[in-house]
Amino acid sequence: MAPRHQAPKGTFDILPADEAARALVAEHSARLLDAAGFGRIETPAFEDTELFTRGVGESTDIVSKEMFSFSDRADRPLTLRPEGTAPICRAYVEHGMHKDPQPVKLWYAGPFFRAENPQKGRYRQFNQVGAEAIGTDSPLADAELIVLLDEFLRGLGILQLELRLSSLGSPTTRAAYREELRDYLREHEGELSSEVRSRIDSNPLRAFDSDHEGTRAVVASAPTLLERLEGEDAEHFAAVRRLLDAAGVPYRLDPALVRGLDYYTRTVFEFTCDSLGAQSGVGGGGRYDGLVEMLGGPPTPAIGWAAGVERILLAMAETPPWARPEVFVVCGDGDAAFDLTLELRRHRISAQFDLAGRAFKGQMKQADRSGARFAVILELDGSAKLREMESGDQREVDPAELPAVVIAAREA
Ligand code: AMP
Repeated sequence: MAPRHQAPKGTFDILPADEAARALVAEHSARLLDAAGFGRIETPAFEDTELFTRGVGESTDIVSKEMFSFSDRADRPLTLRPEGTAPICRAYVEHGMHKDPQPVKLWYAGPFFRAENPQKGRYRQFNQVGAEAIGTDSPLADAELIVLLDEFLRGLGILQLELRLSSLGSPTTRAAYREELRDYLREHEGELSSEVRSRIDSNPLRAFDSDHEGTRAVVASAPTLLERLEGEDAEHFAAVRRLLDAAGVPYRLDPALVRGLDYYTRTVFEFTCDSLGAQSGVGGGGRYDGLVEMLGGPPTPAIGWAAGVERILLAMAETPPWARPEVFVVCGDGDAAFDLTLELRRHRISAQFDLAGRAFKGQMKQADRSGARFAVILELDGSAKLREMESGDQREVDPAELPAVVIAAREA
């Protein structure tokens, strides 16, 4: 018998049964990004290797360890694209898009390739959906893109998300900070992992990414770049934060947020989903104000993000859109149940209410069947109770405080 072949390590077949969920993600991407004024762009699956060594950076993991590079028959060095931003900036310059009205807003979807050690959520060929706004330095663009990614993920039913946010400042602030960090790391060289030690010169920020215990202890007291932001960088970051607050998108400041690409400046962000385990990053991005110029174009500030389709599918499987609601609102007055349900949803609490005109008992049964963790029982006299469905524990709560009460109870 001839030997059987298998898909190469870290790759997988997408069978007919898998297509429906992928089609959902694809349609959702197109609907959301088209409506926000992003035009779809498709670039080749491989590029000149130099695009990535220059654009992404020689000392990054992606370039130094993870590229699938090869030569064509005329010995030209080529690489299967490990990421989408450098190719899009290449296309922006090549097609003279800097002469179009700015910013140029583009989105893409397709396969990317990294020679990583495969595990759940980490593959050698994977799919990304991404969006870029090229030709704007406004913090409004940062906020617009972050809010879009939040909407994109939540719209697919991924609810347990955390947004981590930071700023890397400008290249000069970053250079000064790198020096300061190098000095600090050298003082603690003996406590660092050998990998971090060998990169103190080339990429000291990498120390923040380490899971080596000694290194983590050292970086816990290291100076942070966020503390060193000044002037326009600090103003830009404050504006982004203000806009996110106004949009009601919660975030956690994470001065240790290091993204694996060299081109980032100022704002960087990442959405993680706890239910994914070790590979929890579902999507992230940041500003790359120097990249277009580095690739031969005019000075052009820009910002973008990419989200991983396979991680999204894994997260959706954990919390499918038809999953149980967190709260079922039980109330004899349909209008009041409607108002409260919408109010809870505005606070990102998944909530349902009776649409079939059931009496109180029937609604309680429905609450039970829905699998909701809590029922809110809203009495006609305006008082309210929060009931934990599993234990049956029930307590009086102030109806005006309900969203906050549910959020607190969720974490209790
Ligand atoms: P990055 O360009 O590394 O920021 O990646 C953007 C997103 O793509 C990540 O948040 C992941 O969701 C996804 N991703 C990155 N690398 C892989 C991989 N090797 N396998 C699957 N998904 C990935």
